[in-house]
Amino acid sequence: MDILSTTCGEQSRTMDSQNLQRKFLETIKNQISHANYRAWFAQTKIESQVNGKIIFSTPSAFIKETLKARHLQLIQEVMEKLLSKKVHVEFVVNNPKSGEEIKEDIFQPTLVQTNSYLNPKYTLENFVVGQSNNVAYAAAQAVVINPGLSYNPLFIYGGTGVGKTHLMLGIGNTILRKKPHLKVNYSSSEKFTNDYVEAIQNRKMGDLRKKYRSAGILLIDDIQFFSGRDGTQEEFFHTFNELQAKNSQIVITSDRPPVEIYKLADRLKSRFQGGLMVDIQLPDFDTRVAILRAKCQERGVVLPEDSLKLIAAYAATNARELEGKLIQILQVIKAKNIPPTEDTLKSILGQKPQAFLSSLHYKQVFALICQYFAVKEKDLTGPRRQQELVLPRHLCMYILSEDLQMPVEKIGEVLGGRDHTTVMHGRDKIKKLVTTDREVQRMLIEIKNKLTTTT
Ligand code: ADP
Ligand code: MG
Repeated sequence: MDILSTTCGEQSRTMDSQNLQRKFLETIKNQISHANYRAWFAQTKIESQVNGKIIFSTPSAFIKETLKARHLQLIQEVMEKLLSKKVHVEFVVNNPKSGEEIKEDIFQPTLVQTNSYLNPKYTLENFVVGQSNNVAYAAAQAVVINPGLSYNPLFIYGGTGVGKTHLMLGIGNTILRKKPHLKVNYSSSEKFTNDYVEAIQNRKMGDLRKKYRSAGILLIDDIQFFSGRDGTQEEFFHTFNELQAKNSQIVITSDRPPVEIYKLADRLKSRFQGGLMVDIQLPDFDTRVAILRAKCQERGVVLPEDSLKLIAAYAATNARELEGKLIQILQVIKAKNIPPTEDTLKSILGQKPQAFLSSLHYKQVFALICQYFAVKEKDLTGPRRQQELVLPRHLCMYILSEDLQMPVEKIGEVLGGRDHTTVMHGRDKIKKLVTTDREVQRMLIEIKNKLTTTT
């Protein structure tokens, strides 16, 4: 900067537009965020400069308006430094499009305007719905029918790779399709944090607020990263309130429910809980098959149903990893030009099927639990209520219900003729304990691991 300002005095007489433009962009680049630079300046050119009157040409009316409204002062300052004299700046649109198309530009800037990019690849139509995500999907549908009014905020949580971002962008894309003029702001919580820090450093809080608080829909991804960032949380709290008051839809994702986000302000937790919270779980076997089928379709390849099932059985994992496996398989099959036989697939997948729990027989679960706790099967299913039998019994109820997906009546029956309400009680007890009791958590993991590797 200083180098420029000391040398440009004499240069100003000789600097041609091209040279000036290069220096101008270089200087601007150092003063604003990369995203802002790309959105507003990268395609902006100096059309002419005569006697301190500088005319910039922009590729669209929208960019022109934004430069005028938000960056005029910066542009003027930089130019005056470069040329060492007062300047007057004007803008023209240099766009071969017809007037009508330019007008359209003004009303379709939603994504550029916020430097956010809604990947159009993720839609609600190509989101596969199954038992693990149907509640979240239904909530997403409700939100797109009535943005801002049905559930605000919608808080989607779940482990990595289960489709949180996909669903959130699906909501954004669907609403945008219906209401293209709406400003959709998609941002990761890291981006929001960076913007906030940058705004403080550059004393541009006004810009930040304009950017986030003018959103018609605000999508914030992976909010768990707000953990411990007090300033960011405070700023977001006010953003949130302002948007909610205007009935602007807010969608948030997180890898865990609000109460479990460490160092998150209580008032944010309660705001998040005030909307609708839905979780997405790891896809069950059928959903995995459906996801594989959909991903094949998207790629225009056909794999036999049996192959899909085999892959789903071997890769009992989240959707992202599942897709990764599929891509790997398709690549090998194509490169080696071999058919997707069972042997081929198994050799590529290279392991035993994991967590194939849903296909186990309840007797296998009984046998393993009895071995694990060193109890006899006739005691497990018998009438005695000794303390050392209670936990193994409850774990059986939980695994048979949650993983083998047996109906509670049937579970009661095979567990020695117990009532289905007893089964539900036992199952729910474990459901609660796995989130609070580390010992139970550890047992369950060990038992499931054994079930998937030794049976
Ligand atoms: P998360 O944000 O929960 O970590 P993503 O939304 O990024 O997960 O999903 C990971 C990948 O899996 C993406 O390619 C996404 O399209 C795919 N995916 C996840 N769930 C589904 C689903 N239900 N239907 C289709 N694709 C899915
Ligand atoms: Mg994500």
